[in-house]
Amino acid sequence: TYILAIESSCDDTGVAILHNDKVLCNVVANQEIHSQYGGVVPELASRAHQQNIVPVVHQALKQANIDKTQLNAIAFTKGPGLMGSLLVGSSFAKSMSLALEIPLIGVNHMQAHILAHFINDKNQKKPPFPFLCLTISGGHTQIVKIKDHFTMEVIGETIDDAVGEAFDKSAKILGLPYPGGPLIDKYAQLGNPNAYSFTKPKTKNPLDFSFSGLKTAILYFIQKNIKENPHFVEENLNDICASIQYTITSILMEKLKKAVKQTQIKHIAIAGGVSANSEIRKVLKEAENKYGWTSYIPKFEYTMDNAAMIGIVGYYKFLDKQFDDLGITASARIKF
Ligand code: ATP
Ligand code: FE
Repeated sequence: TYILAIESSCDDTGVAILHNDKVLCNVVANQEIHSQYGGVVPELASRAHQQNIVPVVHQALKQANIDKTQLNAIAFTKGPGLMGSLLVGSSFAKSMSLALEIPLIGVNHMQAHILAHFINDKNQKKPPFPFLCLTISGGHTQIVKIKDHFTMEVIGETIDDAVGEAFDKSAKILGLPYPGGPLIDKYAQLGNPNAYSFTKPKTKNPLDFSFSGLKTAILYFIQKNIKENPHFVEENLNDICASIQYTITSILMEKLKKAVKQTQIKHIAIAGGVSANSEIRKVLKEAENKYGWTSYIPKFEYTMDNAAMIGIVGYYKFLDKQFDDLGITASARIKF
């Protein structure tokens, strides 16, 4: 089965082609335009998708070395995400499905981040059911219990900011460009994680997360120190980044430990853009020996937004004959 998948939920236009559960190509056109604005500008994102979609589809077909008449289905991101961005991908997917007379499959972006683990690739292993997935991205922070490919239950989630936002907003306070998450990761590698400490937020439900307080604590900490030394940030950037990253990682691990205790499930996966973070990947790997967990760490390429993850959900839905009709609409917010 050949599936062409389109991801256009935010600022990257992605097109992938899968042969069953194997990825033949995974093309992503990044949008540079947003970094100068310090965040994604929805209006500009939709426009860039509109420009990118046709060339990226052509490039994907070329890279996979197949003809469009060989495709068996078109999968696309139906949400959650930015409405204008989703509309470009969904409209294109519908047209292609109509023209080629092949099934159309709408995919939930968050389910796709999780099922990216099921892509057949020598650099990652498939988790057995049930497993827990810490889904950490730019818009979400959840602990999800996965019972099968289609049955997922959120058992904990953020009550305010997502982890990706915590990284990006902290980076902004430090004067780093958007998206700051990868930069904090980079500088942290040279810093001391115990140089500074930030108090960890409390939540009513022990499996929920809260990150807005941490952002404020970091802001006050920086303002106070800059008063005493205007060069505080430049002089201590590595230590500050390492300490922020250490605090965030500790919060995530504490919650995961509670979730394992509550569910008695020890197969633990991470997914989403923030699962690219080297410290989080390292600590989760160490948890295998430390707590007896089995950790599932996605291949780097499948952490941040990409269409291969949409394609793998498309493949499982295709096997289950879960098709959508052409009247399907994208939505900014959807649940599992
Ligand atoms: P969602 O998936 O919730 O709709 P999104 O698709 O915008 O949101 P992703 O693309 O999955 O989010 O993830 C992007 C986020 O990942 C950004 O906040 C970015 O800073 C963060 N991120 C990427 N790499 C790293 C890293 N190495 N360390 C920390 N954060 C990172
Ligand atoms: Fe995402």
